[in-house]
Amino acid sequence: MKAPRFFCENCGIEVSKDTKKCPRCGRFFASVRCPACGFTGAEGLFGDGCPVCGYSAPQSSEKGRVERVKENQVAAGALPAWVYVLSLLALIGVAVVLWFAIK
Ligand SMILES: [Zn+2]
Ligand SMILES: [Zn+2]
Repeated sequence: MKAPRFFCENCGIEVSKDTKKCPRCGRFFASVRCPACGFTGAEGLFGDGCPVCGYSAPQSSEKGRVERVKENQVAAGALPAWVYVLSLLALIGVAVVLWFAIK
């Protein structure tokens, strides 16, 4: 039987398939990521391995593993750095305008 094994993306320990929280580092898991193709989805989709490429972590190897990840990780990582810089500059601009308005 092909059953994927699950590992914490944060500290790397093996966790049970249905766990929602890492017993070691306390990270909450919202979804599962395939290390072979990068597909991220609900753990139910991974019942027989990755639904996209069919990948399933070998029972005897630490090499291939399905990592449990936070749902919003991909979206947050997609934002380029200049977005943060720009919003910071806008905040500073507002602060400066307010400072002169008070004076
Ligand atoms: Zn952990
Ligand atoms: Zn895959």
